[in-house]
Amino acid sequence: MTKHWSIKLGRFAGIDVFIHWTFWIIIGWIFLLHFNAGNGIEAGIRGILFILALFLCVVLHEFGHALTARRYGITTRDITLYPIGGVASLESMPDKPAQELAVAVAGPLVNAGIAVIIAVYLGISGQFPGLRASALENGSLEIPFVFGLFVANTVLFVFNLIPAFPMDGGRILRALLSFRLDKVLATQIAAGIGQSLAILFVFLGFFFNFWLVFIGLFVYLGAAREAAFEKTKALLAGLRVKDALMHKFTVLNPDDTLGRAVDSLLDSQETHFLITEENEPVGVLSRNEIIKGLSERGRDAPVSLFMQRDFVIVGMDMKLQELLQKIAPGEQDLAVVIEGGSLVGLIDRQNVEERLLINEALKQRRGDPAPHR
Ligand SMILES: [Zn+2]
Repeated sequence: MTKHWSIKLGRFAGIDVFIHWTFWIIIGWIFLLHFNAGNGIEAGIRGILFILALFLCVVLHEFGHALTARRYGITTRDITLYPIGGVASLESMPDKPAQELAVAVAGPLVNAGIAVIIAVYLGISGQFPGLRASALENGSLEIPFVFGLFVANTVLFVFNLIPAFPMDGGRILRALLSFRLDKVLATQIAAGIGQSLAILFVFLGFFFNFWLVFIGLFVYLGAAREAAFEKTKALLAGLRVKDALMHKFTVLNPDDTLGRAVDSLLDSQETHFLITEENEPVGVLSRNEIIKGLSERGRDAPVSLFMQRDFVIVGMDMKLQELLQKIAPGEQDLAVVIEGGSLVGLIDRQNVEERLLINEALKQRRGDPAPHR
């Protein structure tokens, strides 16, 4: 089974785990690296086993997030492994700062736990003191497997705690700030701190370790993107379909002609029309379909020939965050709002954006941290 070029590894604790195809490039690369270094096939296989073990740790990290989120009633769509790490697609993040903090911290804590367990094992079996000597003797980069996993988990723990947005540390910082501040403001401050840190990394990287330059650039770009995304999400928090829907809209009958749809299109700001039959919605017609219909069949063709028959139906109380996941651009442009079995309105992305603009304007005017909840 595949999903977005990913192969399903299996289903654990009710969550599908996928592996992205690019991951195999890393596997092949590691093998070739060892093989070309003249270490032979055995070393190549050992290298691959190490990467697999490392990615198992990454999967466990993601399960740390997912299973903690589940305790707060948030489901995880899936966990996908990419060469740069894992991504757990949580349906949403908890609104309460304490819960968000717990979800964000859970991932890095898993790696800390693994590192501690390995350290205890190495300590008990007396392998720690011998490590440095053996590395020097061999004079190679080859480090013992288990010790390597210890180092890797420690790095994962520390790296993820960097307080900048693509990392869990960014979320942790934001959650801590939102105990005292409004979520949008907390997001902006957290993103700002993350980006300043990124600039510092790039700067230090030129003097000390060039890797820091890459990490800094990665963090900088990630922080900007996440900040914009998180800001929208924070603005949307608490808003529902009933806060943004259109009550006034043009309704067409299936037998109405495209000509009539064109007149409505030119007469109003609307770009989508609802088609109903005996007050029941039966389809939606977008501007693109009207244009397509006109070029194929002319003004007199009925709208029923070109309308989309499968459309999204939502209730008044659905969260706008959830709605935006249903009306992805290019697929479904709008949703039909039905309450108590009857049609109450339409909603599209533009309505949601307008609502956000209005809320922001009101907020600036009133200095009110959370209008319209
Ligand atoms: Zn994480």
